[in-house]
Amino acid sequence: MIPKCVVGNWKMHKTTADARQLAQAVAKGAGVEDRVSVVVCPPFPYLSLVGDIFRGSRIALGAQNLYPDKEGAYTGEVSPTMLLDLGCKCVILGHSERRHTLGESDAFINRKVLAALAAGLDVIFCVGETLNERAARETEGVLERQIVLGLAHLPPPSLARLSVAYEPVWAIGSPGHHASPEQADQAHAVIRRCFGRLFGDEAARKLSVQYGGSVEPENAGAFLSRPGVDGCLIGGASLHAGPFLAIVGAAVHASQTMKQSA
Ligand code: PEP
Repeated sequence: MIPKCVVGNWKMHKTTADARQLAQAVAKGAGVEDRVSVVVCPPFPYLSLVGDIFRGSRIALGAQNLYPDKEGAYTGEVSPTMLLDLGCKCVILGHSERRHTLGESDAFINRKVLAALAAGLDVIFCVGETLNERAARETEGVLERQIVLGLAHLPPPSLARLSVAYEPVWAIGSPGHHASPEQADQAHAVIRRCFGRLFGDEAARKLSVQYGGSVEPENAGAFLSRPGVDGCLIGGASLHAGPFLAIVGAAVHASQTMKQSA
């Protein structure tokens, strides 16, 4: 069974004081259940602060982005080495806000994925279709394109350090307008099938596929109880300890229930 995973993406939110308070509350409330992994991705300026608070807890530190080079004249950018130096275990790449708001191409995201894995970071690779693409029945094609181009040239030994987050663009940041668990299941099956074609059936079976898009305490259990949903990527609901910890609790519950019925 693939361990359930809950990832919080704080995006561009919080002050130093808020970040400290939220990280302390999450570290205190997350408990010690180790069958569920918990990752929190604060903005770059708070990585060090939040990393210090998480040290010794069960929560891993992640980053929201990186630049695919070790060092150099890239004003304003942050390298994989710097993230490792700050204690990051993983990085979110290919997020729809970077694809659509900041114009990142599949090829550029691919460079980032390769650089992150080569440096030793785990990667949470996001894919997802827009509302127009879904309406035009292009979901499958879009997911396949993002996977084939975004994961090109991936060295097989690094596959175990990659997970995929299905994040339909139309469901992000729109509380109450999430995908249905059935839609998530269908998309996850497409992702796993495409991954299997590229990297083999065993790699596809072992791939952790998360759902993201307006997951809240009220709907988290419906996603996490699906065998094909290995975790959730949480934006808005990760900005307060209460809802985020409730989602972690839903993951623990789903993981226990699935273990009992296995
Ligand atoms: C996200 O940005 O990855 C996300 C899933 O956001 P939200 O939970 O707010 O929809």
